[in-house]
Amino acid sequence: MVLQEVRKGEEDQRRSKSVQLGQQGAWTKWDLPSRKVTWAELWRLEPIRISFMLRSVCDTLTSPSNLCRWGLTENPSCKLCGGTATLAHILSGCKTALQQARYGWRHDKVLQTHADILETERRKKRPDLKHEKPAIQFVKAGEKAQTTASSQGGLLSGASTWEMRVDLNKRLVFPDVVHTNLRPDIVLWSDHPDRTDSTMGGRLCEAHERKMSKYQELLELCRAKN
Ligand SMILES: [Zn+2]
Repeated sequence: MVLQEVRKGEEDQRRSKSVQLGQQGAWTKWDLPSRKVTWAELWRLEPIRISFMLRSVCDTLTSPSNLCRWGLTENPSCKLCGGTATLAHILSGCKTALQQARYGWRHDKVLQTHADILETERRKKRPDLKHEKPAIQFVKAGEKAQTTASSQGGLLSGASTWEMRVDLNKRLVFPDVVHTNLRPDIVLWSDHPDRTDSTMGGRLCEAHERKMSKYQELLELCRAKN
């Protein structure tokens, strides 16, 4: 309890210091889900990526606006539109960049990487689960049941075959199951009703909860049609 108190005191001090720092403490005002960077991740990442990640969080990257603030240049303006080139402006706020489809290009590059990985996984041979009864899991009194399927083999382990469409090159047409005006980046589906249902509600949903809430209704409609 003493240790906890001391830790809490230290943490409070750190936080009150952060709040006072207008620039580096901006994160204290963010309304975003917090991200925990683990040691395992840090070992894996290249130093330059760790540097970028930390400096982008504290807004200490060499954006024109920062260079000007530090007295290294005289012009803080964006070369594309002439506005003040802060980090936020460069990453997602420049109207000219948007018009020139630069953000779309970046989005598609990320999407392409995801699609490639998913495509490799999708093509892997999986056991046909159609006639297989799910094994009964016995749990001892007082113990908790362990999670199966999705935690063992990932999202795609729930069905033997998967179809996939990606919103790249040409506009994604949503499968004939339901009509929708929404335009998801990637649609993965299987004609294996029991399993598809449970896996779609699994990990992918948790990790992208914010984005998924947009598609929740669509997902429900698809489920209703098996
Ligand atoms: Zn701009």
